[in-house]
Amino acid sequence: MSCCDLLPDLLDYVDGTLAPERRAGLEAHLAGCEKCHLVLDTTECTILLYRAAEGPTLPADHRAALLRRLEEACRRARTG
Ligand SMILES: [Zn+2]
Repeated sequence: MSCCDLLPDLLDYVDGTLAPERRAGLEAHLAGCEKCHLVLDTTECTILLYRAAEGPTLPADHRAALLRRLEEACRRARTG
């Protein structure tokens, strides 16, 4: 499983909607991957701030924007 493959799952994970069997795989990867940890930290921060300001769920357009940012971070991490 590569980091970029995990990005959509990562969003569901921080949203609390990721299926338990996928969650286990994601957590196993996160435990050994510093890059994903960094992305997750940033993502969780963003989402927690967003929730505090706006409410319990992310609107679809915000999710899409966040996913794009994650993909950029992932691409940067890959190319070093
Ligand atoms: Zn990773």
